Amino acid sequence: MARKFFVGGNFKMNGTVSSIKEIVSNLNNATLDPEVEVVVAPPALYLLLVRDTLRKDIEVAAQNAYDKPCGAYTGEISVSQLKDAGINWTILGHSERRTLLGESDAVVSSKTKFATDGGISVIWCCGESLAEREAGKTIDVVSSQLAALKAQTEDWSNIVIAYEPIWAIGTGKVATTEQAQEVHAALRGWLRKEVSDKVADETRILYGGSVNEKNCGELSKQPDIDGFLVGGASLKPAFVDIINCKKQ
Ligand code: PEP
Repeated sequence: MARKFFVGGNFKMNGTVSSIKEIVSNLNNATLDPEVEVVVAPPALYLLLVRDTLRKDIEVAAQNAYDKPCGAYTGEISVSQLKDAGINWTILGHSERRTLLGESDAVVSSKTKFATDGGISVIWCCGESLAEREAGKTIDVVSSQLAALKAQTEDWSNIVIAYEPIWAIGTGKVATTEQAQEVHAALRGWLRKEVSDKVADETRILYGGSVNEKNCGELSKQPDIDGFLVGGASLKPAFVDIINCKKQ
């Protein structure tokens, strides 16, 4: 089964009502490759605005979701609240949350299980730091992040993996096509060995880290790169060119 190309836009903690309306209007007026699945993740405050105004062939994602059903968890959003608001996706385990907010592999895995069990699809992020890459530990790091995910995951069908080397996020320093392909192939190999051929063949593995309209074309040609998670460039009109990169 061919894996459908996937492009996610992570707005992070950026935007205003006015700038987000402009992004939505730009996407609504764009001609997008129908063979690409597109999901955008605005800040929580703007999820409903985006869901209500964005074209329906683009899904909307939260940037986080909690692993408890409801209750005294100030500042958190539950999976059932996302469903109630028509939000069918969430990003989980982004390196900014892992490093700045101390989310462990186990916490990210628990949230991923809670989300998928509750009917929310997950863009699950992993990736190594610069020190880990320079120490030759990249594959070990992403493998152990995957092992923590596997410990709590039975159904992989609603999980998209985003490989995002931390040193490439927001730095303008994109991984080379060879570096990205090598890690993507290792991730797929891990899934084949530790989970199943089916999960390895069907799971989309996205690359994230300073993707833009200029570098996306070459990256998209790699056999194990099934799309992108885009941060900074998803706030710009050029996001449309990234979505359409297979056609250019
Ligand atoms: C991200 O936040 O997921 C990301 C990849 O950011 P950027 O594209 O800005 O590097």
